[in-house]
This record gives sequence, C-alpha cells and structure tokens, in this order.
Amino acid sequence: MPASASPFSPALTRASIFATYAASLVGIDLSGEQLLQFERLTQLLLSWNERVNLTAITDPADIAIKHYLDALTLSLVAPHFDGKRLIDVGTGAGFPGLPLAIAFPRLQLTLMDSTAKKLRFIDEAALSLGLKNVRTIHARAEEAGKDQRYREAFDIVVARAVARLPVLLEYMLPLCKLGGKAIAMKGAAACEESTAATNAIGALGGELAAIEEIALPTLDDRRYLVVIEKINPTPKRYPRRAGLPARHPIR
Ligand code: SAM
Repeated sequence: MPASASPFSPALTRASIFATYAASLVGIDLSGEQLLQFERLTQLLLSWNERVNLTAITDPADIAIKHYLDALTLSLVAPHFDGKRLIDVGTGAGFPGLPLAIAFPRLQLTLMDSTAKKLRFIDEAALSLGLKNVRTIHARAEEAGKDQRYREAFDIVVARAVARLPVLLEYMLPLCKLGGKAIAMKGAAACEESTAATNAIGALGGELAAIEEIALPTLDDRRYLVVIEKINPTPKRYPRRAGLPARHPIR
C-alpha cells in the first residue's frame, strides 16, 4: 500500500466524517447500526436512481451532507422528537423524512407525495433498512388536509423544496395539530417568502416563530428553517381544492 493511501474504505471514512458532523452540528450521536443504515440508503438511492429519477445529487459524500445532514438540522428547532407524529409533505424520494426515521427511531413518520413511484422507493428502503416508524401516503396535500385521518393530526409538519411559502403553508398548516409546528426548509429567499406569507400564516391559524439560519459544512449556500407555530385551528375552507393554492396563493 502506498504511504499516502488510507487503510480505510471510502464508505468507512465517509461514515466517520458524517458521524462527526452529526454530533458536532446537531448533537446527534449515531450508532454503528444507524451509520450502516445511512450507507445502505445511499446504495439503494443510487441504484434506483439509474431507473427512476430520484435525485440529482449522486456523489455519496454530497448525499450525506445535502440530503442527510440537512434533514437532521430540523432537530435544532424541534428538539423533542420522541413519540411525536411528523408528516413530510412532498417527500419525493424521502427527504427530509428518511434520514429523520433512521436518526430518531421513536419518531412516527408519515411521508406523503403525489407521485407514487417515489413512494415505492421509500417503501422498499424502509423495508430493507428495517425502519418500523415510516409509512407512506400517496396523496396531494390539498386532499390529505381535508381527510379526517390526517387533518390537524401531526405534532410536526415538515417540507423541503415543494412550493413557495404562501402556497406551501396551505399544504402544511391544515395537517398540523393545535400547539404543533410547521417547519419549512428554505433557501436564500426564506425572509422574502416569509414576508409574502404574512397573511397566509394568519389565515391558516399560524404564527411565525423563528427563521433560523443553518450552515452546512463544506457548503456556502444559505439555508433557513422557517418555523410556524399553530396557535388557532385552521378554518374549514382551507386547504382549497387541488391546484388552487398554487394558482391563487392566499394574499
Ligand atoms: N422534499 C423532497 C426533497 O427535498 O428532495 C422532494 C422535493 S421535489 C422538488 C417536490 C416534491 O413535492 C415532488 O415529489 C412532488 O411530487 C411533491 N409535491 C408537489 N406538490 C405536491 C402536493 N400538492 N401534494 C403532495 N406532493 C406534492
């Protein structure tokens, strides 16, 4: 072996860097078993991605930071996950939901999307990783928000890269329990979108609680967690029928 070569496999090196970041950035100590689950998830994601378009991020080290660590930052603004019910709206291939399911085995997760083929990936990944705390729902958020099984049924509602905040909150807040939190993962436009959503937040029964800036290692883009607390029930007229929130956001 050349003197400069590492005696460790790339996967082992990656896992140990990821574990260090998880501990130092979000205070989560991942077990060896959890690190293996993350590694297995990467393998599955990349092999499915050859057939189904799940992610544009294909470098395993990037996946660890941009998908996994990014998801775990949610715990910074919702620190008590144990026993809680969380729904990930527009989860796609399971982000941020799947990393949360691995890191927090006592969190009960519902991963919802309107595209069935991505949910099939999540179902297979959950089975393969032995995740018992994940279920998927194939639905549009506008329909789930009217359904008594899901309406105001979740302690925490999260979403990443689904819609601008004035639209997204009409998807999220009807699903959130009174006293619960909706947390939108946003990029550089977070503050501008939050201002544009002022009327939507009030109309849907929410209150803006915080906009937390998040810095991820090795990246210099700006990320934010926009935290909305549910302080009043959402009026029955919301969410409006499918497509209307996007076409005519609450002003
Ligand atoms: N959250 C994932 C992530 O960050 O990787 C996926 C983001 S992807 C850009 C947006 C996802 O939101 C798509 O999978 C799409 O099907 C879903 N979506 C958009 N509008 C939706 C709606 N009204 N109800 C449910 N899912 C929706």
